[in-house]
Amino acid sequence: MNHHTSLMKNYGPPAFNAVRGEGVYLYDDSGRGYLDFSSGIAVTSVGHSHPKWVQAVQAQAATLTHCSNLFGIPGQQKLADRLVARAGAGRVLFCNSGAEANEAMIKLARLHGKNLAGEEGKRYTVVAAKNAFHGRTFGGMGATPQEKIQGGFHPMLDGFKFGELNKIETFDQLIDDSVAAVFIESIQGEGGVFPADSGFLQELRALCSERSVLLMLDEVQCGIGRSGHFFAFEAAGIQPDAIGMAKGLGAGFPIGAIWVAEPYAELYQPGSHGTTFGGSPLASAAANAVLDIIEEEQLIEQVAALSPAWHQSLEALAQKYPRLIAGMRGAGYMVGLVLKPEGLNLRVTTAAREHGLLVVPAGHNVVRLLPALIATEAQLNESVAILDQVFAELTT
Ligand SMILES: *Cc1c(COP(=O)(O)O)cnc(C)c1O
Repeated sequence: MNHHTSLMKNYGPPAFNAVRGEGVYLYDDSGRGYLDFSSGIAVTSVGHSHPKWVQAVQAQAATLTHCSNLFGIPGQQKLADRLVARAGAGRVLFCNSGAEANEAMIKLARLHGKNLAGEEGKRYTVVAAKNAFHGRTFGGMGATPQEKIQGGFHPMLDGFKFGELNKIETFDQLIDDSVAAVFIESIQGEGGVFPADSGFLQELRALCSERSVLLMLDEVQCGIGRSGHFFAFEAAGIQPDAIGMAKGLGAGFPIGAIWVAEPYAELYQPGSHGTTFGGSPLASAAANAVLDIIEEEQLIEQVAALSPAWHQSLEALAQKYPRLIAGMRGAGYMVGLVLKPEGLNLRVTTAAREHGLLVVPAGHNVVRLLPALIATEAQLNESVAILDQVFAELTT
């Protein structure tokens, strides 16, 4: 398809028009269904139009949609309680997207730095990772040192340095008394599905504590059950100082959030930050429904139980097509197939779609598989069977 004549061309031209979703299937305008392992880029965590989610959103829309944060919002308070119960003692601030969540964390780092060094002190640097993706706002872009993201928009926001994920010595070197926070994805998504190792996260936690630097984790893509834990960092047994969330939290209704640990949550005082839409009654109802469904259907347990066999099947594909596939990386329902011939990830994305499976390219020659957390064993197996066919055809 071509770009629609009235739409900006900042996205690539679409493959098809999507008009309906049901569970893990997405339908185009000719009625064809696709096994959707793109999930709107890790967003539709409980599948498309889950009946309980639909019911909750419809009921809230008919009751109260929006009132702004001038007034208390019971659904937002309940959602915050539930996130605090998951993350630990602290407070939550709501917004509307991943980039906005990260923006609020970068602002938190500035408040923390001023708290330590005073208004005139120059403690505001955030140390992020070289292969990171944190969003398209000036804060998020500043923390995303990719020319394909930053190109055309220089000068960038001041105050970012970059270490290398899983190389603790590179962070150790950068964290001096100009640094207010370390900011990384627990599992890098757009960069090509690179998980932060548990040992690395533990050492980083110790380093940050020792130097009074905040450890801020971007869980926008890997959070809310996708990794087989509620938060992906739980696998490392660490406690961050701040967490950014968005994509899977509303499962299709835009909502973002940050959780901030107890002492640092006090850095945000009345008037210091705000958003018109963040945590609206409607957005909060959608996210509360997502958490209800995750709990009632034990989806995190399901992801943890079903993903090892799926990962093994994908590893077996790599064994079967050693000239095409280098291997797989990831956790739970966030997996990257690493391909060998340059640019193959785009060809595989197209071929998989033609065979009825939607996947997302990422990073350097990686194909990302991001099924909804409701995906069954049979659906995971179907994804492997389709990919097997795709690679078989690419071999001949
Ligand atoms: C998608 C993503 C973002 C940006 O989220 P938006 O909702 O698109 O602004 C930030 N960080 C990570 C890790 C992401 O995957």
